[in-house]
Amino acid sequence: MNIRRFYPADLLAGEVAVVTGGGSGLGYAIARDLVACGADVVITSRSAPRLEEAELRIVEETGRLCASFPCDIRKDDEIARLRDYTNSRFGKGSILVNNAAANFHMPAERMTRRAMETVVDIDLMGTFAVTRAFVPDMIEARRGAILSITVPSVNRGFPGFSHAGAAKAGIISLTGSWAREWGRYGIRVNALAPGPVPTEGVTVNMLGKDATDVPGAFAEHSEVAALGGLGTPEEIASAAVFLCSPAASWITGVNLTVDGGMELSTPLHRPVTG
Ligand code: NAP
Repeated sequence: MNIRRFYPADLLAGEVAVVTGGGSGLGYAIARDLVACGADVVITSRSAPRLEEAELRIVEETGRLCASFPCDIRKDDEIARLRDYTNSRFGKGSILVNNAAANFHMPAERMTRRAMETVVDIDLMGTFAVTRAFVPDMIEARRGAILSITVPSVNRGFPGFSHAGAAKAGIISLTGSWAREWGRYGIRVNALAPGPVPTEGVTVNMLGKDATDVPGAFAEHSEVAALGGLGTPEEIASAAVFLCSPAASWITGVNLTVDGGMELSTPLHRPVTG
């Protein structure tokens, strides 16, 4: 799927976007498609080599420049450097995609304080800290779009990933609070909840399976969606681009589920073993 079949090349011209976790998986697809629609994009994550490779691939796939800057979203000093880099490279950020997360399987009865804190620190506190760093410029500009990546139906629990479920539920609440507090500044704040989309990160880190068989790791989910099959990173990215774009100018405070109708089926998020 090529995003330019749906959206014009100048949809996001003049926008400066930052995508956390933009070197891999869904973040990569979102960053690439923001670039393809005319935004100047900085991708960030902890791994500099992965970011450099992703940056080159985005240039190859879109014919437009992309920038990268390593940053651990648990560290305020690194986030401040990310903001300074973005400002000096492209100008003040007007779009922020909080996509980075680090989740792993752990039964609730064996959940340690350390595991809980690690996931909440990255997923929830990282989203808070990066947003807190970039929003003053958006408030000053009286415009901006913030999008955070969550999971569907998280109020029904997330068996095997209760730490991630709590963190994502917190992000959804922040989305509502921020939308209501910052709407007066012309800032839209939304969330996007993807259904299962085969990515290497989820296969290895969440499902604890081998990176050589990403489709196999997701096989059990492939018959659940009303539309059948699994989603693709491109299908998540096209919804993300929409929510970040002026086409969504009257949309704020939503947590948009993009899952082919999987949420309609039960049980959701069956306990994961392994
Ligand atoms: P992924 O490739 O593992 O993406 C996670 C990204 O977060 C990686 O690029 C990782 O890069 C970055 N990251 C982790 N810890 C970080 C930190 N401390 N600081 C900065 N960056 C950090 O997996 P994905 O499937 O694309 O997931 C992307 C998002 O979609 C996540 O929020 C996930 O919860 C959500 N999601 C995915 C699915 C799915 O089925 N794929 C479904 C629902 C929701 P580094 O390791 O280089 O830091």
